[in-house]
Amino acid sequence: MERIFCPSCRLQQPIDHAYCVRCGHGLPTHLLEQAPVKRARFFAGVKVSDRDSANAFLRVSCYLKEQTFSTPEGSVVIPGHHVRFSIWNGEQAQCVLSIPETEARSLAHFIEEELSKLDDALPAT
Ligand SMILES: [Zn+2]
Repeated sequence: MERIFCPSCRLQQPIDHAYCVRCGHGLPTHLLEQAPVKRARFFAGVKVSDRDSANAFLRVSCYLKEQTFSTPEGSVVIPGHHVRFSIWNGEQAQCVLSIPETEARSLAHFIEEELSKLDDALPAT
């Protein structure tokens, strides 16, 4: 894992810290060329049956790199290379599912391929 030095006390620590764990000094994380570890997008749902919610949406989070969150009680490691889907109804997540990167690539390819058939079916303009 990449590390950063505190400019005040020189303690080395993970780059995802915003403040030094020893002295509380702000860490110069803005200086790091850092790719985001996670990106998320929301996709609006469409109501196709009476049982469907009118304001449901899909949240897709791509976890690119492993991420460690440290707290005084211990640390939690969120693995990278997976995509997490959650179905939201208003403010509440109804269910979640994570799939590995390989499955996510397969899903993206599947959707791309199926939707391209729709493009072929469009009348020529
Ligand atoms: Zn420090």
